[in-house]
Amino acid sequence: MASHYQICITGIIQGVGFRPFIWSLARQYNVTGTVYNNSDGVVIDCSCTAAQLSDLVQAIKNNGPPAAVIGDVTVHTRPEPVFFPDFTISPSLRHYSASIYISPDLALCATCYTEMFDPDHRRYLHPFINCTACGPRYSIIKDTPYDRAVTSMASFALCKACEDEYLDPADRRFHAEPISCLGCGPRCSITSLPDDRLYHFADCLTLVRNGKIACIKGIGGYQISCDAANGAAVERVRQFKNRPDKPFAIMARSLTDIHALCHVSREEEASLLSPAGPIVLLRLQDPALVSAAISRGNKRIGVMLPTTPLHHLFFHYCALPFLLMTSGNRGGEPLITSRKKMVENLGPLVDFCIDHDRDIHNPIDDSVVMVQSRQVRVIRRGRGYAPTPIPLNVQVHGILALGGQQKNTFAIGRGCEAFVSHHIGTLGYLETNEFLHESIAAYRALFQLDYDYVVHDLHPDYVTTQIASSLGIKHIGVQHHHAHHASCMAEHQLTEQCIGIILDGSGYGDDGTIWGGEIIVADMVEYDRVCHFETVAMVGGEKAVKQPFRMAMAYLHHFLDEEELRTLYGEHDDFNLIHGLLQNDKSVMTSSCGRLFDTVAFLLGLIDRISFEGQAAILVEQCAEESSSEEVYGRVLQVGIDRVIPTVSLVREVFRDWQQGRKPAQICRIFLNTLSRLLVSAVVKIGGATSLSKVVLSGGVFQNSILTADCQTLLSQAGFTCYTHSKVPCNDGGIALGQLCIGAMQRGLIE
Ligand code: ZN
Ligand code: ZN
Ligand code: FE
Repeated sequence: MASHYQICITGIIQGVGFRPFIWSLARQYNVTGTVYNNSDGVVIDCSCTAAQLSDLVQAIKNNGPPAAVIGDVTVHTRPEPVFFPDFTISPSLRHYSASIYISPDLALCATCYTEMFDPDHRRYLHPFINCTACGPRYSIIKDTPYDRAVTSMASFALCKACEDEYLDPADRRFHAEPISCLGCGPRCSITSLPDDRLYHFADCLTLVRNGKIACIKGIGGYQISCDAANGAAVERVRQFKNRPDKPFAIMARSLTDIHALCHVSREEEASLLSPAGPIVLLRLQDPALVSAAISRGNKRIGVMLPTTPLHHLFFHYCALPFLLMTSGNRGGEPLITSRKKMVENLGPLVDFCIDHDRDIHNPIDDSVVMVQSRQVRVIRRGRGYAPTPIPLNVQVHGILALGGQQKNTFAIGRGCEAFVSHHIGTLGYLETNEFLHESIAAYRALFQLDYDYVVHDLHPDYVTTQIASSLGIKHIGVQHHHAHHASCMAEHQLTEQCIGIILDGSGYGDDGTIWGGEIIVADMVEYDRVCHFETVAMVGGEKAVKQPFRMAMAYLHHFLDEEELRTLYGEHDDFNLIHGLLQNDKSVMTSSCGRLFDTVAFLLGLIDRISFEGQAAILVEQCAEESSSEEVYGRVLQVGIDRVIPTVSLVREVFRDWQQGRKPAQICRIFLNTLSRLLVSAVVKIGGATSLSKVVLSGGVFQNSILTADCQTLLSQAGFTCYTHSKVPCNDGGIALGQLCIGAMQRGLIE
């Protein structure tokens, strides 16, 4: 006997082929009724037996379309009998309210790929092929609900053939909003810069092979590209971007090519192939396949597969396995999305541009992930991930968290969800600051978000602190490492007090010193700084971040006298200056873990100047990977830990070992072994005193895989449960999420 049911489904289910999926399921199970979008998601009104209903619900939960993220599925029984002759898709209800979601941009799917390279298919070599499982989403949307008319596809009128597919529920392009074909879709152009000579795709072969530098309009902004094996071309890009050392990401033609170049685990492979299509940090296996100028001696580089049909086409024509692929901007500046700006800014570098006339409405950078302990961790959240919200068990409605200064992201709360933005960049540059404002405005409009409470970092000089006080609404400052801690708690929906090991470069402490090697006990309301690295002078302030010699002198100063220092480093250009500064003792003090790594890298001769964040830490890790020593610096472990972790003693041991001629690889390994043991023994002590057993690991230093794995192992051996990041970065890209939660709890206390 048939009854009438209403099934309500929430989640990311608009614009991903969800209604046709329901339509075909309903036919399969002989269910009659209708499916439509409403304010909360998708609703099915149907008539069927209880058995059919249960099959349908199971199938919805288990076999959703690839790009859908299904939230709740709830079933109500309707008393009034309704007769449905058939199963139909009803048009979207225009009325909508609080539950707008927008799918992130999705990499080209396998089916579209096959069609694209099938000479008999009508979309053969179509640079904008897509379907309900793939293609641009967030980047082309101007308004919600998601519909072609409010995307940058609106200006392209559908041809008859495309329209038929668009309107046919049985077609896999039913309501694929960016649908198009070679006849009716956006147009590509390939031109030389600056003289605008017209090229054909086939010219890419000669251009790229002759070391020419391309600009290609990607999903979220223009990108710079060239043959990854051509050292001279790569060097030109380095010079232009003012990027002397940091490895470049590459795009590879195929997974097979990536397997030849890098070691790829199962998890890494899954990430490369995922609809998000991120850059995955991989260990080089055969570095000779690309120019040494790509990696600059780093053992890991970022690798991605082509994510758009245009990228596939570029590979198809230039017939190379690897292309450098980097965002088309100079260091620190935001992405470029307009042709005019591209010509102005990139003109001096770029030889030719693969452009098209589909506008990018919301700029978004590529995402970066890495796999640690078999877990995928997002370390830059952008295309493919944002703007999917992060579910919380804290009510964060109406709060804006502005994040930090570096790797900025912001977060806005709606109900128990955090809309954590894509990567914005380093604030303090006019254009990046503007990008932050524009992105906040875009999120507000698209997701109908609003806020009356703003959270910022305590640092008085951060741009976000200034923005917060300029908004004219209630605002609070949150300590940097407390925010890191809370962001990891939030990911795991923890609300009780936890112990946090928070290691990063720098964050403003509540005592005016710069923190960064901290063990705190905290919930989402308050924190207690229980333990921290020994503080040393950050000689000359911020300059010490780029010049590790300054930090090394500050550490050495604790156990060497002037004679000894002069014998060692008297030749150094800055010796007298730094030594003088150390004497008059006015430098800000720091417990930074990043500066500890800088010091070790400098002492072992691994680095002299730092050009990008985390550089020294990466070198120490890579060096340590060459040793499997399990030794520790016993003398350091014997120094009792009260409130201070004896990091100066640790540096002393490193220094002594180095003086005795031990290999840097061994020293780095023993340094890391000792550091993780110091941290864990501090946690054990705190655990004993507080009976807390949950430990969160956060802060950018945890991108170090050896340290993370060691801490995880040792903590679980000691009976603790250890929580790490995966959805938001452990670096400053994650702190907006923590700020949001702390803000919510503190607002709750005030009200
Ligand atoms: Zn597709
Ligand atoms: Zn068409
Ligand atoms: Fe930080």
